[in-house]
Amino acid sequence: MIIPVRCFTCGKVIGNKYEKYMRMLDDDEETGEPASRAMDELGLKRYCCRRMILTHVDLIDQLLQYNTFARKPAGAAAGPGGLA
Ligand SMILES: [Zn+2]
Repeated sequence: MIIPVRCFTCGKVIGNKYEKYMRMLDDDEETGEPASRAMDELGLKRYCCRRMILTHVDLIDQLLQYNTFARKPAGAAAGPGGLA
């Protein structure tokens, strides 16, 4: 979903590191630098913090497609829930 702001176990702030981590992985596909080195450079030393970044699946963009409040039916002046 959305990357948690803090590590669930130790409370270290990790929410600001996920985008940098993904950029480092994208840049490093050609050079072959592993994910472990990217996490080391971001200062993620503990394995509790590393698992937060490593196991995160960013699904928020896919879930936003199913937001019923953002969708507006064509030609319908409906209130919440679609009932006029
Ligand atoms: Zn941690």
